[in-house]
Amino acid sequence: DEVILRVQDLQTHFFTRTGVVKAVDGISFELKRGETLGIVGESGSGKSMTAWSILGMVPHPGRIVGGSINYLGENLLEKSRGEHFSGAERRNFKASVQAVFQDPWSSLNPRMRVDQIIAEPLITHQRLSRSAVRAQVQELLQVVGLHPFHAERYPHEFSGGQRQRIAIARALSTRPKLIVLDEPVSALDVSIRAQILNLLKELQSTYELSYLLIAHNLATVRYMSHTVGVMYLGKIVEEAPPIELFTNAQHPYTRALISASLPAHPRRQREEIVLAGEVPSPINPPAGCTFHPRCPFVMERCSADVPALVEYTPRHFTACHLYADGGKNTC
Ligand code: SF4
Ligand code: MG
Repeated sequence: DEVILRVQDLQTHFFTRTGVVKAVDGISFELKRGETLGIVGESGSGKSMTAWSILGMVPHPGRIVGGSINYLGENLLEKSRGEHFSGAERRNFKASVQAVFQDPWSSLNPRMRVDQIIAEPLITHQRLSRSAVRAQVQELLQVVGLHPFHAERYPHEFSGGQRQRIAIARALSTRPKLIVLDEPVSALDVSIRAQILNLLKELQSTYELSYLLIAHNLATVRYMSHTVGVMYLGKIVEEAPPIELFTNAQHPYTRALISASLPAHPRRQREEIVLAGEVPSPINPPAGCTFHPRCPFVMERCSADVPALVEYTPRHFTACHLYADGGKNTC
């Protein structure tokens, strides 16, 4: 149960002309070897920015302003005052942490052949002979379920699902320990999604990979994750193993997300929590619990006190004043 990634109080802010956006506002989590942490939330929740912070890819005008990212025992942020380290360490990190992004149409260079795409990280990180590279490309294609004769083709000759397999092969080429999956199947046809998720699961158990999975789709996160974190306006508001989260959600926001994802059912209606209003502007987030303007259970203290993320039952954390007295209030 080795922890390979430990994030503590991470804060990534965007310094825009209209104000500071706390895209990631003090989140903490751990990821163990061979496991998946799924982070779910609406767009604007900060889930992608969490991933990009770890990858050292925060775009301008964003900056990591606080917290720590500990990867295999080293704080990535300590090395150079708030930003990611550089040089040789950065190259090692990039070999050990890879990413697969949402859009397999734009993430693969259309002018490169598949074998060049897959070999590129390998060549950057290791000194290998041409024949060794070729052998590894052939092996990686087979590992992701593509025929070796695909090596000399170009990305446009493939379907979305096949392209995502190519992106996965490329990510695997440096034998990473951690792969960040940012919406890995949301651009794919529904009929293809399960195949890609099953491939990712197989690869995880074969290579003991850890995944940080970013997704807005609850079913994807439920299927893939050992632990699920729910993000709202830059914070994790609830965290639990998926079975616990999906059968016994505590936070009103999580319960609303789950209700919204279920097909309408007359007998369920009374329990449903409907989300009122839009996600508020992250430039001027509401005080106290940032969910309070939309929460059907809002109490007086909710607009004043920020609820802490507390473990009320084993491995199940919630940031909500409803549970503050230890008991589960009936709501
Ligand atoms: Fe709702 Fe208050 Fe809980 Fe926030 S802290 S989710 S406003 S009950
Ligand atoms: Mg996103």
